[in-house]
Amino acid sequence: MPSGADWIATAERVLLRNYRQPPFVLSRGRGARLWDLQGRRYLDLCAGIAVCSVGHAHPRLAEAVAEQAGRLMHVSNLFYNDRAIELAEALVGRTRFERVFFCNSGAEAVEALLKLARRWHFEHGRPERVEFVAALGSFHGRSFGALSVTGQPKYHTGMQPLLGPVRFVPYGDLTAAREAVGPRTAAVIVEPLQGEGGLVLPPAGYLAGLRALCDETGALLLFDEVQTGVGRLGSFLAQERFGVWADACSLAKGLGGGFPIGAMMLRERLGDGLPPGSHATTFGGNPLAASAALAVLHILDEEGLVEQADSLGAWLGARLAELAEDPAVPGAVEARGMGLLRGLRLAPEVDPAATLAALRDHGVLLSLAGGEVLRFSPPLVVERAELAEGLDAVREVLRDPPRRED
Ligand SMILES: *Cc1c(COP(=O)(O)O)cnc(C)c1O
Repeated sequence: MPSGADWIATAERVLLRNYRQPPFVLSRGRGARLWDLQGRRYLDLCAGIAVCSVGHAHPRLAEAVAEQAGRLMHVSNLFYNDRAIELAEALVGRTRFERVFFCNSGAEAVEALLKLARRWHFEHGRPERVEFVAALGSFHGRSFGALSVTGQPKYHTGMQPLLGPVRFVPYGDLTAAREAVGPRTAAVIVEPLQGEGGLVLPPAGYLAGLRALCDETGALLLFDEVQTGVGRLGSFLAQERFGVWADACSLAKGLGGGFPIGAMMLRERLGDGLPPGSHATTFGGNPLAASAALAVLHILDEEGLVEQADSLGAWLGARLAELAEDPAVPGAVEARGMGLLRGLRLAPEVDPAATLAALRDHGVLLSLAGGEVLRFSPPLVVERAELAEGLDAVREVLRDPPRRED
């Protein structure tokens, strides 16, 4: 059996070098725990970037995938399959959306939103409505369409020319949005809470203001709920929590609990926006992915995980606020976020990558958002004692944090 070090040597030889991964190889998980090939245990408060919503190796999810794999995995979009229909109905039943398109990732769900917006206007005699209005600091994915509405220049480097036209406006600035939306706007696309951008909450009234602006001007309002959806913020969709509904939204990350699946959900009035032949995906809506997502929804209900994201998230938020205010913890300066998508902004002199490494040495896995915010996106099945264990490690590291070298 190759050791962890053997695998890393092979990885350095054969994998594309587009990631910076720490020197251990994960091989097993359970709930909020992960083990590497050396047998070292980690507390996973990252959950594969808000993906493993029901934790690792949940027996019911594993069983659903195994059972479906032994029955039917794929038929393509040329034919109906019962699992995808059941999943679409379950999603429609939980939201104000009336139709669903399945795909395989967050970026694909965003692509579907953008194509829906243009084509819907086109179908209704408004071919001039081709522009998108998007927010600075946003993240919508890495495919060219999704990247083109992503308002962070670092992701654009060397990738231009991007698709357009796109107008970027500061997130939270309703006046700027009003100035940017015009008779050529196809849609406004925003995250209801900016995830990758650093866990930025929308200012009060911002999302409702965008809704009103789109209603007045005829532009569509698109919400990217890839990170915020499927219970993460303490309601099934962030839209429920904020009381503002888009014309269409994207889902992905937490939906399959680790199995790749994405979805676009839309209101009935857009139902004729992508007529037969206008958009498709080979794998999207395959019965295996749909079974995984159905199991996730079942587990969310059975274990009360959406309510738990709200209550445990409030508890975590209060603890993070204490850390940010504690003079004995100079590395932490601000608590952010909602539900079980929380952040702790690091002081400017703190080295974020070295902080993550120090936390790994304490056996705790976290990720960064917006470059300087420690992101907590634990499995929704996480226990309070596990969060407390992670917070102890964070306190320990940020008491005397690793500093940037300048
Ligand atoms: C992660 C993310 C995406 C991209 O999802 P992929 O599955 O990586 O393509 C898009 N939008 C938001 C808000 C995300 O957080």
